[in-house]
Amino acid sequence: MKFENTLEYAKRLDQEDPLSTFRKEFIIPTHNEKQQIYFLGNSLGLQPIRTKAYLQEVLDQWARYGVEAFFMGEAPWLGYHDKLTGTLSTIVGALPHEVVVMNQLTVNLHLLMVSFYRPEGKRRKIICEAKAFPSDQYMLETHVKHYGYNPEEVIIEVAPREGEHNIRIEDILQTIEQHKEEVALILWGGINYYTGQLFDMATITKAGHAAGAKVGFDLAHAAGNVPVQLHEWNVDFAAWCSYKYLNSGPGAIAGAYIHERYHTAPDVQRFAGWWGYNKATRFLMQKGFMPTASAEGWQLSTPSPLLYAAHRAALDIVNEAGWENIQAKRKKLNSWLWFLLNDLSKATTETTPAKAFTLITPPPEAERGSQVSMLMQRAGKEKEIFDQLTEAGIMTDWREPNVIRLAPVPLYNTYEEVWRFADILRRLIG
Ligand SMILES: *Cc1c(COP(=O)(O)O)cnc(C)c1O
Repeated sequence: MKFENTLEYAKRLDQEDPLSTFRKEFIIPTHNEKQQIYFLGNSLGLQPIRTKAYLQEVLDQWARYGVEAFFMGEAPWLGYHDKLTGTLSTIVGALPHEVVVMNQLTVNLHLLMVSFYRPEGKRRKIICEAKAFPSDQYMLETHVKHYGYNPEEVIIEVAPREGEHNIRIEDILQTIEQHKEEVALILWGGINYYTGQLFDMATITKAGHAAGAKVGFDLAHAAGNVPVQLHEWNVDFAAWCSYKYLNSGPGAIAGAYIHERYHTAPDVQRFAGWWGYNKATRFLMQKGFMPTASAEGWQLSTPSPLLYAAHRAALDIVNEAGWENIQAKRKKLNSWLWFLLNDLSKATTETTPAKAFTLITPPPEAERGSQVSMLMQRAGKEKEIFDQLTEAGIMTDWREPNVIRLAPVPLYNTYEEVWRFADILRRLIG
């Protein structure tokens, strides 16, 4: 894509943007009475205006029917789950019955580990990315300890090479090959939360299966951000949260995918609860667990219709905007950001002796989503620019020791906001 670095050009991109009206669907927080430039959709997506009405509907049903709201009214809560899985299955590329909305991300990862990490004899190793999100690291560490194994021996991490920021696919494949007799599970992030690197999930899955391992993905930073084809790629399982790119609110109900080949497989182990019991006979309260023959068979507890409602409000917007259109804008918006930042990093190396930042997110379109991570490099002043951006009403986030992450997202950010950010950054780095 060819761009021009001017405000007029940015405005023209907004005028030509078929999704520009969707910004009005969201509440944009303010800073000194002006709308913030909110680039934190990778952390907590903004609140859709309609969320309140969707929540109110559930409160009204509760008021009117009490517990009978599970079964009565125009939209009984028992059927609510089905209103979520259609759009979600498009977003993650799964069959609708391979998707379940339940719990929270880390909880779901633990539950899926019960089913898909089945160490046996010397096949007990787990291959994962180095510096995965801490919750994922703690999840793996404690899960492995619960089996009585030493995490240091069992968990194999693949890291970027010395002096590099991203993990090379050939290093991932080589590690799988090297441990092919001992690897039980490959658990990988769809997109690394720190660098924004998008991984080749299809290739990792293929190599993992060839080595005799199960393969699962944490899609926290991928779901709702980039296209994913879990079923087509033959991924065994995946989990994600819904409060980042899926705009479903703080503590939103999370999601999981389980390939259909496991839904009724008798040898699949799981930790069960009554909500995963065969729906047709769940309320007979019988002894002996019989799962629902879909990903819903992994549910444990009565879900919250309030959380479902907040999730649905956001998913309905995705549906109205169209997933393909969202992807087209995501790519263009991110290329625009990339173009402006590149322009800036070139300009600063020419005019100032100390380079202000390096982009550590991979450049080619295929290897990133909305997020760009900037490694701040002026010694002693790493955080200064971040603080000044915040003062100027530009919301990004800071990750120790020296990274600014920002993610303009297609549903509510504009090309003009991206231009204004780059313009202010230019002045700050001088
Ligand atoms: C955000 C994030 C989490 C958070 O887990 P919760 O259980 O939702 O708190 C976990 N893993 C990754 C990779 C994340 O980016």
